[in-house]
Amino acid sequence: MLAQVIVDVPTARTNRPFDYLVPEALSDRVAVGSRVIVPFGPRKLQGYIVGLQQSEQADLPQLGGMEQRLKPIEQVMDELPPLTSELIQLAEWMSKQYLCPWVTALQAMIPAVLKGKAEKQLAATELLDAAAASTSSLLSELRQGRVLPLSEVEKRFPEEAVLLQGWLKAGWVTLTQRVRDRVTRKQVTMVSLAVTKEEVAELIASLPTRAERMKQVLSYLSDLEQPISMTELLDLLQTSRSTVNSLQKKGWVRIERREVYRDPYEHKQVESQPRHELTDEQAESLAQIGRMLAARQYASFLLHGVTGSGKTEVYMEAIEQTIASGREAIFLVPEISLTPQMVDRFKARFGQKVAVLHSALSQGERYDEWRKIQRQEVQVVVGARSAIFAPFRRLGLIVIDEEHETSYKQEETPRYHARDVAIWRAKQNQAVLVLGSATPSLETYALATRGRYHLLSMRERGGGRSMPSVHLVDMREELRSDNRSMFSRTLHEMIEDRLAKQEQIVLFLNRRGFSTFVMCRSCGYTMRCPHCDISLTYHRTNHSARCHYCGYAVPQPNHCPDCQSPHIRFFGTGTQKVEQELARLFPGVRVIRMDVDTTSRKGAHETLLGRFRSHQGDVLLGTQMIAKGLDFPRVTLVGVIAADTSLHLPDFRAAEKTFQLLTQVGGRAGRHSLAGDVVIQTYTPEHYSIRHATHYDYEGFYQIEMGHRKKTGYPPFYRLVLLTFSHQDVPVVIRAAENYAGYLRPRLSPTTQLLGPVASPIARLKDRFRFQLMLKYRDEPKVVELLAQANQHFSEWIKQHQVAVTIDVDPQMLL
Ligand code: ADP
Ligand code: ZN
Ligand code: ZN
Repeated sequence: MLAQVIVDVPTARTNRPFDYLVPEALSDRVAVGSRVIVPFGPRKLQGYIVGLQQSEQADLPQLGGMEQRLKPIEQVMDELPPLTSELIQLAEWMSKQYLCPWVTALQAMIPAVLKGKAEKQLAATELLDAAAASTSSLLSELRQGRVLPLSEVEKRFPEEAVLLQGWLKAGWVTLTQRVRDRVTRKQVTMVSLAVTKEEVAELIASLPTRAERMKQVLSYLSDLEQPISMTELLDLLQTSRSTVNSLQKKGWVRIERREVYRDPYEHKQVESQPRHELTDEQAESLAQIGRMLAARQYASFLLHGVTGSGKTEVYMEAIEQTIASGREAIFLVPEISLTPQMVDRFKARFGQKVAVLHSALSQGERYDEWRKIQRQEVQVVVGARSAIFAPFRRLGLIVIDEEHETSYKQEETPRYHARDVAIWRAKQNQAVLVLGSATPSLETYALATRGRYHLLSMRERGGGRSMPSVHLVDMREELRSDNRSMFSRTLHEMIEDRLAKQEQIVLFLNRRGFSTFVMCRSCGYTMRCPHCDISLTYHRTNHSARCHYCGYAVPQPNHCPDCQSPHIRFFGTGTQKVEQELARLFPGVRVIRMDVDTTSRKGAHETLLGRFRSHQGDVLLGTQMIAKGLDFPRVTLVGVIAADTSLHLPDFRAAEKTFQLLTQVGGRAGRHSLAGDVVIQTYTPEHYSIRHATHYDYEGFYQIEMGHRKKTGYPPFYRLVLLTFSHQDVPVVIRAAENYAGYLRPRLSPTTQLLGPVASPIARLKDRFRFQLMLKYRDEPKVVELLAQANQHFSEWIKQHQVAVTIDVDPQMLL
């Protein structure tokens, strides 16, 4: 048998399958998707089988020569292949679609512990035995036949490690490369009876009276239906291990090591939750999805429902139907929405049938959850982006909740979008895809209006609850009335009111990364690029404002070009400043602050939310990480400190993101019996994204935004590719960008625009300067191929100059 193997070296030269022989002994352990160790030149590498040929021709004499040149696979690493042939094909598609090595796509699909680690190992040779005895403790260990990883040698024998070169030359020792598997499995010791229950009474009687403890253990075990863990047994009976050991010696009990899953949810009691009678809208949506599930045909839906309309309820019903028909379901949520509440909701409904893949799990826990899928012990997976690669074999349904979330795009190679992968898998499996959102991305909604997704709308909140009322506050008015505080009078009064009533408040600071746009606080004017229609970014070094798409630049004005006010400057408030201000204005207020600083520790996120839930805080203050998924019964006021911040990002999606954020934030209030208020503070209340968000008017927003996108040539009318180049020296990085531009320009059709080279919005990162090119195209079917050719063409130059090039197809972040 022959196997085609992709080796674990992500370079252009190794980006193809290599042929290996499958030794007879391994032939029934290999499959497409197996992880193997193969010799590759002088090295041993991990690889993945992407094809197998059971060909008889392999036995033909004329092929004998080739056969001999082929090397055999050395080892198969898992009992069950971690990948399926579907995933192998998917990875190949991804490597073409996103311009990445095939193996990089494969790596993205498996748990981190399966990514083998290459390691050098030290061993003795026969020459060492013949050599004179030495006092070296390292050598004496090697003499005993031990093989030591180089890292261990360096740690344990730092003094002798420096002598290694000499020993290698003398031929006393050898260094070989091994691939070390990082997989660990948790094992527990289990105890059970080795005799029948009937025999126990007799045995107990046969023991002398002083063997009280043994009797106790025997009688306890005879009451159990299943083996019990040793620790638990010893703990319960307050006895010692030696008691159990002596029973084992007598052959009366059995002690065995058994593998268990590391399940962080194991000891959690999950209450079952009441099922709601579906609203008409929910029932209608479900009926349509159910019809396609029953037909076992590819179909895709956009479930557009206001926050709180009960989308999750619809997903769960659809998942239930999928399982009932013997198929499997993937449910994707943004990392940030994968809260304990969300997990509980699924555990309550699906119990042991669901695996949860969460990045907050340890690598071991993640691997164990993933193995439940691999072993077909679960039928549902709930997880963030990478759960789209769940190795199910009978996939029937994929749900992507909050489909507009940018976290579905991976911002490192492979730069895939989970939605594209989902479409691919759904088609491949004749499965149903459901995209859900209150604020679908423009790309998705545009496709839905053209019939590419079936559109399902839910406009009502379930349970007769209404959407909270939204108060829009014009901060320019506040300034005019001499209120220079970051809290408007309206928000101030409402906070006081809720504090007095012991209700809770969520304050939201709409801020992302770097917000260095220039804004007039008197009239709300911001500077924009006349060519690209995005906000200009303030540059401190030369006091200029610059466009990061095309390079347009103007000096920073001292007075507002619109109203002549001197209150024009760059803008941005931090959460800490808001916290101080709250403490000053509302003495005694208990604030829980959630931002990158307070949530960097593992589990901090949950702890803080838990404290807020149990009312140990009056105000939850945070950035967009608190905008979604949270569901607190006592929250009756949501305040947005400055809606404008995201509106002026140097990103053509700024308006869309603002609309999404404001709508989501509004959805946080009044989800339960208490009615809610939302206060949005802004310097530009007339902006359509803010105006439409206050009325929950997606359609209205969509129409206007589509007009802009069309006029300025952005998605969904045009597609983009972002090329980013980085290097320590500016001239080199500019040359790299110009090389690519020079190569691409004459090969592109006249309707395609190539913008740049310009400095990236983040112009310098880790001491490397960054420049970018942007392709805007409509009818350029060969664009990815052309980019691959450019990569090929410049590969030597790029390597020689050590320039880093990243190509992002359909980018979400333009930094
Ligand atoms: P979405 O995902 O659209 O934001 P959810 O499914 O989370 O909405 O539902 C919001 C709230 O409404 C939840 O507390 C849920 O239990 C409740 N709910 C959902 N469907 C119904 C229904 N048919 N009747 C009453 N309450 C419902
Ligand atoms: Zn002004
Ligand atoms: Zn521009």
